Amino acid sequence: MRLFDTHCHIGLIHEDQLEQLLAVQYAKRAGVSKLVSICNSLTDFEVIYNNLKSAKNVYHAVGVSPTESGNLLTGWESKMQQFLKLDRIVAVGETGLDYGKYSQFRDVQVDMFLKHLEIARRAHLPVIIHNREAGNDILDILKHNIPDEGAVFHCYSEDWEYAFRAMELPVYFSFAGNITYKNVRKLTDTVRNLPENRILIESEAPFMVPARYSKRRNKPEYLPETANAIAQIKGIPVEEMSEILYQNSLAAFHLTEA
Ligand SMILES: [Zn+2]
Repeated sequence: MRLFDTHCHIGLIHEDQLEQLLAVQYAKRAGVSKLVSICNSLTDFEVIYNNLKSAKNVYHAVGVSPTESGNLLTGWESKMQQFLKLDRIVAVGETGLDYGKYSQFRDVQVDMFLKHLEIARRAHLPVIIHNREAGNDILDILKHNIPDEGAVFHCYSEDWEYAFRAMELPVYFSFAGNITYKNVRKLTDTVRNLPENRILIESEAPFMVPARYSKRRNKPEYLPETANAIAQIKGIPVEEMSEILYQNSLAAFHLTEA
């Protein structure tokens, strides 16, 4: 069984380079053979990218999260475009809108989101979407600006009706450890209704720890719990479901290797 963790904040799990490389190794031992490393800022990206250079099974996304909209550095667009030329960059993100804690920076966020989409279109890369209480605005913006390479709704938290509306676009829906929680009918209904080929999984470590490990900091090595939950909802044997999810991940990030 092999798994693909489509969203992991390795730099937030550990600060130390050796610990970060070990986290990747432990994940691999648990079946997580590939993962996408995510950073919220370009400063963090540079550190993690260099720390994980030797880990060839780690891919990277580049972007400035909407959660950074209050402390945006000037010239971020050109810096980001420089980073996009590096090896194993598979996506732009995370980008999107956060109307939770950061709602006072809405205008900045919309501007950032549009710029990320434009950069992604020019770089021929998919985008990874962060959505907090901003589903409708995100969908409106995506409709007119999504790159041909598509988008991933990370840590999906909307309902099936929203997914159904979004499905006319080339998008994937990535589910995190919260799918293993009790009373998450909105999420389980969405997984049940979604076509298998649109579903991805992610750890979102160190957040969203699966129920079995509750109260611990999440790690990518816990991802099999999430794969199990999806397999159970879909009524598909976990080995088979895992391979479907793995192939979906390769497709979502336009990776050709097996
Ligand atoms: Zn994240």
